[in-house]
Amino acid sequence: MGIKVGIDLGTTFCAVAMIGDDGKAAVIPNEMGERLTPSVIQFFDDGSYIVGADAKEALDYGEEGCAAVFKRSMGESGVYCSFYGRDYTAQSLSEIMLRELKKQAEKVTGQRIDEAVVTVPAYFGELQREPTLRAAKDAGLNVRQLVSEPTAAAMNYAADHFRENAKVLIYDLGGGTFDLTLVQMKKNDRVDVIRTTGNSMLGGKNWDEELAKLLVQKIEEDVEYTECDIHTHALREAEKVKIALSSAMKARAHFTLDDYGSCTVEVTREEFDDATAHLREKTRGLCINLLDSMKLSWRDINAVVLVGGSTRMPQIKKFIKQMSGREPLSRVNPDEAVAIGAAIMANLKAQPYAVQKITNDESVIRTLRKGSVPAKETAVESLQKLSVSDVVAHTLGKVTVNRDGTGYKNQIIIRENSVIPVKVAVAEQFYTKDEGGNESEIIMLQGSSENVRECTAVCRYIVSGIEHDPTHNPTILKVQYSYDANGIVHVQARQGDSDKDLPAKKLPAPDDMSRYYEGISAPPAKAKAEPLRIMMAVDVSGSMTGRPMEEAKKAMCRFIDEFSCYPGDVKIGAMAVSDRTQVVCELTNDLTACREKVGEIEVCMTGLCNEADPFDEILNRLAVARGKKVGVVLADGVWSYRDKAITRAKRCAAMGINIIGMGFGEADEEFLKAISSGEIGAIKVELDELTPTFGKIAQELGGGRGGKSRRLFGGSKTPPTECETWPAPGEQT
Ligand code: AMP
Repeated sequence: MGIKVGIDLGTTFCAVAMIGDDGKAAVIPNEMGERLTPSVIQFFDDGSYIVGADAKEALDYGEEGCAAVFKRSMGESGVYCSFYGRDYTAQSLSEIMLRELKKQAEKVTGQRIDEAVVTVPAYFGELQREPTLRAAKDAGLNVRQLVSEPTAAAMNYAADHFRENAKVLIYDLGGGTFDLTLVQMKKNDRVDVIRTTGNSMLGGKNWDEELAKLLVQKIEEDVEYTECDIHTHALREAEKVKIALSSAMKARAHFTLDDYGSCTVEVTREEFDDATAHLREKTRGLCINLLDSMKLSWRDINAVVLVGGSTRMPQIKKFIKQMSGREPLSRVNPDEAVAIGAAIMANLKAQPYAVQKITNDESVIRTLRKGSVPAKETAVESLQKLSVSDVVAHTLGKVTVNRDGTGYKNQIIIRENSVIPVKVAVAEQFYTKDEGGNESEIIMLQGSSENVRECTAVCRYIVSGIEHDPTHNPTILKVQYSYDANGIVHVQARQGDSDKDLPAKKLPAPDDMSRYYEGISAPPAKAKAEPLRIMMAVDVSGSMTGRPMEEAKKAMCRFIDEFSCYPGDVKIGAMAVSDRTQVVCELTNDLTACREKVGEIEVCMTGLCNEADPFDEILNRLAVARGKKVGVVLADGVWSYRDKAITRAKRCAAMGINIIGMGFGEADEEFLKAISSGEIGAIKVELDELTPTFGKIAQELGGGRGGKSRRLFGGSKTPPTECETWPAPGEQT
């Protein structure tokens, strides 16, 4: 018989754990005897690769072929990196990582891995969980369950410190993500996850970036050195300095600068803590929201458990103490807690599918843990009798025609924080066509808003085989969503009272969701609108690498699309800005061409840093233009020459150009305000909100696709109502 393991597939480190013969869960060291394996892979030109510490060292030395931090891109379509003519996705890189972890753990223990529990950030939705599960299966693992990292950490904590009715907050700050989870310990060794929330773009990497900026600032003060290269170098040094500052009050970074020779900069812990205060504040906001949503105060929380490598920073312990009024518990090893908790879960007696009667009403959810606990248990048995219930992190719904048939809305089906596993079914009327071949389209949305525009389209399903009703009365089409024990969603559909599922083909979400954005009134009287000239400028500096750039381009395209029905003469142009400014598309009324040019924008195409600003170019193009003149400027950080930029932005305002300063990430709100003019002004948003916000701005400027949204789809004429559920895939009946 083989072993059952827990695998923490971390953004920066991975760990594998098992329960030993002594009944204690512990990390299995890798082949090099280390308990943590860096999540880094180095590829070579012959297709071979190495994984772990050696690959991390190569990465630190800036060698070719290294892939890291890919977990942050899980679920994103497209290639994550390419080396020597081969393309890798975040999923394929995770598969390599997991295969290597499995191989090494089997070699070190001399036993086969029978089953594994693999952890994911609580905030991972369907889009990220499914590729993670596929990566694990493709790596040859028999996956018992995917579990949320904080849930695994809670199990680890509960194994040693079970206290009935205690409420414990798990503060999990890793390399790339922040998860916050509230658990309650209940009778019969039960651990219930009550609420979970988080930010998938906040983690140790953000602290590294702030520290890198601080290092660069110090070098520039000392030697007036402004080469961009030092930013990349500083980023490489930052993590080392950050880790050193966890045990010392000061740390040094060494640089070798062209023309200047070597230089050393010193950073104090206080300086580092000050520069990263805003990042801690982001976590405070999430803590407060979570407590508020449960009508709890810090007094109701019995313990705060720190998990994730980044909680080793003394500033985090201090911050938690100051915020919660109690010392956080760091007796659990933050790097190992998740893997150990997952190992405990891999060995639980209770099945992942512990819930039989599944409804949305939490009060009727009961686990079916049967059998009496033996009077004298072994240590292993005592761990095995724990049971756990988890919750879903995201609300899921579907695109539905709204009540008055004038547009679309998100029909919420499963709400966030419902206990997993959960299933909900809705029924709606469906008018069939005589010709047969009746199909219905289900577009799955993630998000709590009823406004489709504010949700993420996850995927779509084409339900086929709907039988025509010869009486021409509407037939009933039922759709059921279920979250399984892995937090993975299943979609089923049935017609009327049939007990057979209709075929449902899963497809990617539509590229363009704009036809489903509702709340758009009919276009105003055509041809009356005044001419409109818009110049968009996007920050393409190094910090936009990856998702920020993709999201920015998506938002700009969406913005352009909104003007396809503009009832007047509209011209839009686009430019990229970092160290230089480059106009990628001159003002044009060929919006399709403009969209294409935006698609070609690339990170760093005008340099790595933020030395330039776009305002002179905006002024050149718009100063003498007719009609309404607008400059939309999107930035994600702080610009090097803010004062010059502000002066130039004011010059634009003086020429009647409305500047809208849009920012996300580390963009400085004060700066955005200073450059903005006109009615719309400055806007700071989260990355996820970028596209909807661009859409709203476009509408305020007179865009909007109006009448196009009024088309009904799929033959449905009424909003769905909740109905009886039926067995979900894999559910025991
Ligand atoms: P995890 O995703 O939980 O593996 O956490 C990895 C993150 O923890 C990385 O950003 C590391 O830089 C950070 N980290 C690890 N050790 C320390 C330390 N001693 N002090 C500060 N940060 C650390």
